[in-house]
Amino acid sequence: MSAADQAATHRQAQGSASTEALLDALRSLLGDAALLLPTGPDDAEFTRYQTDWRGRYQGHALAIVRPASTDEVAQTVRLCAQHGVSIVPQGGHTGLVGGGVPDASGQQIVLSLQRMDRILAVDVTNLSMTVQAGCLLAHVQAAADAAGLLFPLSLASEGSCTIGGNLATNAGGTQVLRYGTARELCLGLEAVTAQGEVWHGLKSLRKDNTGYDLRNLLIGSEGTLGVITAASLRLYPRPASRTAALVACETLEQCLALLARARAVLDAQLTGFEAMHRRPVALTLRHLPDQARAARRWMASAEGDTEQATVPPWTVLIDAASMASAAQVQQSLEQVLVEAMAAGEAQQACLAQSQDQYQAMWALREAIPLAEKAEGQMVKHDIGVPTSQIPAFVGQAEAALQQAFPGCSTVCFGHLGDGNLHFNVQGPRSQSDRDFLVQHEHAVNRIVYDIAQALGGTISAEHGIGQLKQQELAQRQPAVGTHWMRAIKLALDPAGTLNPGRLVP
Ligand SMILES: Cc1cc2nc3c(=O)[nH]c(=O)nc-3n(C[C@H](O)[C@H](O)[C@H](O)COP(=O)(O)OP(=O)(O)OC[C@H]3O[C@@H](n4cnc5c(N)ncnc54)[C@H](O)[C@@H]3O)c2cc1C
Repeated sequence: MSAADQAATHRQAQGSASTEALLDALRSLLGDAALLLPTGPDDAEFTRYQTDWRGRYQGHALAIVRPASTDEVAQTVRLCAQHGVSIVPQGGHTGLVGGGVPDASGQQIVLSLQRMDRILAVDVTNLSMTVQAGCLLAHVQAAADAAGLLFPLSLASEGSCTIGGNLATNAGGTQVLRYGTARELCLGLEAVTAQGEVWHGLKSLRKDNTGYDLRNLLIGSEGTLGVITAASLRLYPRPASRTAALVACETLEQCLALLARARAVLDAQLTGFEAMHRRPVALTLRHLPDQARAARRWMASAEGDTEQATVPPWTVLIDAASMASAAQVQQSLEQVLVEAMAAGEAQQACLAQSQDQYQAMWALREAIPLAEKAEGQMVKHDIGVPTSQIPAFVGQAEAALQQAFPGCSTVCFGHLGDGNLHFNVQGPRSQSDRDFLVQHEHAVNRIVYDIAQALGGTISAEHGIGQLKQQELAQRQPAVGTHWMRAIKLALDPAGTLNPGRLVP
């Protein structure tokens, strides 16, 4: 054996001795039940933590740890930092950009916050709630509701995602128009630093002008600057009534005229304005007919092949909530619909007449990601542009994609009221989805992102950067932005303990 080989073997032996020492220390800190080690390739429980929701990223972790308290998180981070082992924080594992998946080295620890799922306090007078980071979003909403209040963050993944993950990704969802993103809904945070210290920023204040905003630095940092262990959240009075309508429009310009009208009539009662192009509605009708019953109800002729013929070009879902009576909010929304039809901005409209119909309308919208998944693999985008530029974006992107990849198709839907669209591209039928993705993802991204950027937009309006868009961000953001992000990462986590290789190149 050469001297170099001997040195390498020695390093490997040292490495594995150090790894064993770390695992022993974690075991005695957390107990056997909170430390998962892989038992083999068929270990389904372990694999679940290493594979993302879309099945696109598959990593290999050294171990999964599931601490039960902030102190255990801090001690875990300290131990990992001492042994030079990096950590991937993980919440509900519903992220769509591979940010919570370990790399392929088998050397990273996944730190799951799942066991830290307690509601710590609800302050009705202060309109705030303090929760542990591993609380499911749906549980946070339910706890607010039980106190007669509203926590308005709302995503299709709310039964699985955690509040820590929502804040780490600055999640958006369906009520941003009225209440803002996760950032606007957070009053304070508690987090563990990359060195294993606890930052106590769990304040429940509306006003706090004491220098750099560390809370906002952590929000949207995707687990690269600190592990969020608890959050203080902003609550709202719970609306007394809620209603929704489905509206058929011919063009995106009509959808935007409808948005302006809905804003003018409903003002703060307007809580959601979602648009669905023809294809995502058709896919939902095909793959998830039960969830698409609201669409079937108002598209009288939607039997048989619904792909092109009967689904309107654009379906808009308008959501309105109010402290006034159900009759009053219904009346206001009806006024929007009547005026829009008279002005030629809408071709058809249907107002929910019951709670069941209201839920069916939202079920249609929320089923789209699942219908897409059933349809096949796509090149996914989550772009944002100023709302006024949406028609230009869709028109230019469709044309450029058809020119580059004749026969490709798009699935376009999303939070139109926020200027945020999911614009997903599927290859021509002549090619398998997988081949199209492997061969053309980069070129498709370039087309879509170039157009979004030229229109003053962003490559990620809500899902974040993770692994998926890291290079894209580095190439597209101004050099000063990249420099500042690197400087912040280096200052707070010089050893690269927290989620290395994600977000910041
Ligand atoms: C069907 C479906 C619909 C969706 N709809 C929306 C939508 O409308 N709007 C939207 O914004 N997103 C949406 N998403 C994406 C996803 O649900 C959000 O990004 C969500 O906020 C992720 O939360 P999570 O707990 O699952 O985080 P994870 O997926 O576990 O992690 C996401 C990122 O946050 C980091 N992280 C997680 N927990 C912590 C913590 N405690 N401290 C520090 N870092 C942490 C991870 O390292 C990772 O980088 C959707 C996803 C699905 C599957």
